[in-house]
Amino acid sequence: MKFVVTAGPTREPIDPVRFISNRSSGKMGYAIAEAALNAGHDVTLISGPSMISPPEKARMVHVVTSDDLYDSVHRAVRGCDVLVMCAAVSDYKPATTRKRKLPKQHTTFSLKLKPTRDILASLAKTPRKYLVVGFAAETQNLQTNARKKLFSKGCDLIVANDVSRKNSGMESDQNAVTILFRNGEIKKISRTSKKIIARELLKIILKMLEKCLTKKSW
Ligand code: C5P
Repeated sequence: MKFVVTAGPTREPIDPVRFISNRSSGKMGYAIAEAALNAGHDVTLISGPSMISPPEKARMVHVVTSDDLYDSVHRAVRGCDVLVMCAAVSDYKPATTRKRKLPKQHTTFSLKLKPTRDILASLAKTPRKYLVVGFAAETQNLQTNARKKLFSKGCDLIVANDVSRKNSGMESDQNAVTILFRNGEIKKISRTSKKIIARELLKIILKMLEKCLTKKSW
């Protein structure tokens, strides 16, 4: 099977030295890529800036901004079987990027932001032949918010995690997730290593793919 996995944060430049980003380490996405490679699948790993060494056999695509990621994902999904959208895409970017370093301000000032393009939602607008796995990092109303994203972003399943906890989620080696399916089914994986979660998620994805192939429809 051909997997496209996105991982890590994006950086949205304010000027040549400053950017807006988030705490995503890329650990979850890299663990999913690794699990798929270990099971013999073909993996394109599209990664925002991350300190992790790329898995040896992955086809690596390095990106910086949400616009780079948008283009790379749209290119990579042609002919893939699964897209795992684990990247923590910045939801906003500066309305303009300054060519020169913004001089230090001595009073409060505001920065005009505009929403980035939603990559998953953009993919849902065209017919597709691959399974889509989304992620939802939430600090409140986990299931309600994740369910909304599952449908509005056209995912087949969404992996939700509570990022308000210190010992799991962003930057941590561990995670605890709730997986929501379109038919209302819910699966919980309690706190464990991201590597184990990645292996469990892979099993779920492969089972779903198998079902879709037997039905010969998407
Ligand atoms: O940021 P949000 O909670 O909306 O992210 C939910 C899902 O949507 C994630 O899988 C993320 O990778 C994806 N996303 C996206 N394009 C964006 C923002 C998020 O594809 N601009």
